[in-house]
Amino acid sequence: MTQEWDAGRLDSDLEGVAFDTLAVRAGQRRTPEGEHGEAMFLTSSYVFRTAADAAARFAGEVPGNVYSRYTNPTVRTFEERIAALEGAEQAVATASGMSAILAIAMSLCSAGDHVLVSRSVFGSTISLFEKYLKRFGVEVDYPALSDLASWEAAIKPNTKLLFVESPSNPLAELVDIAALAEIAHAKGPLLVVDNCFCTPALQQPLKLGADIVMHSATKFIDGQGRTMGGVVAGRSEHMKEVVGFLRTAGPTLSPFNAWMFLKGLETLRIRMQAHCASALELAQWLEGQPGVERVYYAGLPSHPQHELARRQQSAFGAVVSFEVKGGKEAAWRFIDATRMISITTNLGDTKTTIAHPATTSHGRLSPQERANAGISDSLVRLAVGLEDVADIKADLERGLAAL
Ligand SMILES: *Cc1c(COP(=O)(O)O)cnc(C)c1O
Repeated sequence: MTQEWDAGRLDSDLEGVAFDTLAVRAGQRRTPEGEHGEAMFLTSSYVFRTAADAAARFAGEVPGNVYSRYTNPTVRTFEERIAALEGAEQAVATASGMSAILAIAMSLCSAGDHVLVSRSVFGSTISLFEKYLKRFGVEVDYPALSDLASWEAAIKPNTKLLFVESPSNPLAELVDIAALAEIAHAKGPLLVVDNCFCTPALQQPLKLGADIVMHSATKFIDGQGRTMGGVVAGRSEHMKEVVGFLRTAGPTLSPFNAWMFLKGLETLRIRMQAHCASALELAQWLEGQPGVERVYYAGLPSHPQHELARRQQSAFGAVVSFEVKGGKEAAWRFIDATRMISITTNLGDTKTTIAHPATTSHGRLSPQERANAGISDSLVRLAVGLEDVADIKADLERGLAAL
């Protein structure tokens, strides 16, 4: 990670530095202009010194950029910074979180292969496997996230991938990642973890034994609700396949978005700390409210996997879901009574958001799929932002009063 421009300077020597330092500095290579911030390379292609140079670069005989669908220096800086934060050999950026999942599946699975996807994953993730990958001959089964025995029993000789989100969206269910990695590796498949809700600031799945980690960078990595992107990280042998698919199919990350994510990463840990502190306070408070049936937050001792969460994560995340008494009508009344909190399904934003999963993010699932995922009609999902927690609480009190 030395930089040609200022090689030897203390601030470019990142061997052995801490997470927060990597989040601010990893991956940057200064141009001869001496810019302090990361340069944004808004260019679709690159020029060659000579025809022979072009031929050598296209043939991969000499390193260098050819075309921004293949490589872009700003995107590379983002990829190297994520690789440093996740402890990965290599990271590859994508146009969105969904295209990160698509790239993993398309590059590592073929017709006739079998994958296991946790029941408790993002709605579009289920749709991607169920509606599209199945059409191309990939078999899919859906074990219950936390039930290790059901994962073990579901692995077949042709199982290529195990795909999980921990904690899950929106119910904050966990799986013991180290234990699941052991089960996977005893039988052959790779373990993929969608680390969107924790970010590497709270949980580093590769260090727990997972093979591949991916993110929707749209969420906490940007952190300010501005832009879409994704990233996949892991061993080079697997990332080579992912890169091959992305270069050919095209859902690569734009340099502008990569630049925004670099700025987001610089404040990632302190933002996550603030999100988590407010979320814990609100979860504890909601749990004591008579109109609230149940709160789903791994930071609460009442959460069945509280001990695992303490062991596996350094904090409990920003998403607090809860069931209100009175079904869908009550959930909608609660949501509609808030005035400051944004009614939107996005999360990982400075602005607190509230949503009704059954009719939005999980609305396209069949009632059976929704039931399998544990999404009831009375469930409300809160993604806690960075406003003063007293103001968020005051707005939620309006919701409670409307029940
Ligand atoms: C949002 C999200 C995705 C999809 O990411 P996009 O950037 O919206 O494509 C995948 N997984 C999780 C957990 C998410 O929250």
